[in-house]
Amino acid sequence: MSELMVFDEVREAIVMSGGEEIQKCMQCGVCAGSCPWGRMEEKSEFNIRAMFHMGRLGYDGYESDDYLFACTTCNQCAVRCPRGIKIPDVVRAMRSVIAETGGIPKNLKAVLGSINSQGNPWSQERGERTAWMKGVEVPEYTPDKEYLLFVCCTSAYDGRSQKVARSVVELLQAAGVSFGIIGVEEQCCGESVRKIGAEEDFTRLAEYNIGLYNKKGVKKIITTSPHCYYTFKNEYPEFGGEFEVYHYTQLLDELMAHGKLKLSKPVGGKVIYHEPCYLGRHSKAFDAPRNLMSSVPELQLVEFEGNKDNSLCCSGGGARIWMETRAGQRFSDVKIKEAAEKEAQVVATACPYCIVMLEDSLKNLNKDDVMTVRDISEILRESL
Ligand code: SF4
Ligand code: SF4
Repeated sequence: MSELMVFDEVREAIVMSGGEEIQKCMQCGVCAGSCPWGRMEEKSEFNIRAMFHMGRLGYDGYESDDYLFACTTCNQCAVRCPRGIKIPDVVRAMRSVIAETGGIPKNLKAVLGSINSQGNPWSQERGERTAWMKGVEVPEYTPDKEYLLFVCCTSAYDGRSQKVARSVVELLQAAGVSFGIIGVEEQCCGESVRKIGAEEDFTRLAEYNIGLYNKKGVKKIITTSPHCYYTFKNEYPEFGGEFEVYHYTQLLDELMAHGKLKLSKPVGGKVIYHEPCYLGRHSKAFDAPRNLMSSVPELQLVEFEGNKDNSLCCSGGGARIWMETRAGQRFSDVKIKEAAEKEAQVVATACPYCIVMLEDSLKNLNKDDVMTVRDISEILRESL
């Protein structure tokens, strides 16, 4: 086989895996200049422009864990790309070519194994999926309920994140929302599976979930995580799953506007909002979280220098939450340092991955005595 044929085959495999937009790239480098990896204290080798160059020409050299799996799919580069290339989709396609040959990082293989055997990425028992419901009562979803509440795997199993699921439930109940959960029959939405590049596993999950929801009569879904929200809303329609999907902040914002959610107790202090990439830049839901927090009596809301489309990612997306990131290269450290400079007492966010990453940085930087990380739902619940 000639070298040229090998190069063509690699490029064609990327195109066939959904990365056809790589062919529109003009190598201007705006993406690499926008990417947070290039702005960290410790220089990273990862360069998205160079990776596209290698992929387009079918060159080797981008397949290593630290290169191909560096991208957090934060979309910062894509909002600036002059060719409008959906860069995270091309990254996903490049990963899926490598994933087919088994070339994915060891940690991510464990994540996939856990999802395939237990329906969640955290190596937890399938039967424990509803363990988060300590102290709250949530009915089973039946067709007379308006919404299915889908609790992200992280909020279902992680002790810290379970508090977020309970806060969301209490807020929905306070606003009189008709909702229920499916529970142990549920499986992960598959967002990380797709970001890893395991397309077959993602297709199987999406088809299972869509079949389950249709069988149960689900029409509307509320999610606790922006990642599940994005996946149900934007990726399930490819597999025939047509649902009306809300991230909980969007629904609560609507309920508040209609006088159904009332916040009355003061929650004082300076709160800085960290924008989850899949709620903000990917979904453009910029207003709902801010409207909600601005309605809490005595809460002083402040912004990071980079916010909305320019917000800096926490570094947990694109399955990076399961990978090691060296000190000096952690985006969440930069966020905590800026929050401390601005004398914020609380970093508020609305994503389970962001909470994990930001709380790790809080501890690593010894800032946990002056600042806390809270989900918006926890602040709102305190204000009921
Ligand atoms: S910004 Fe867009 S066109 Fe420019 S190098 Fe990056 S992907 Fe290619
Ligand atoms: S999506 Fe984010 S992390 Fe990935 S290349 Fe673009 S800017 Fe960098």
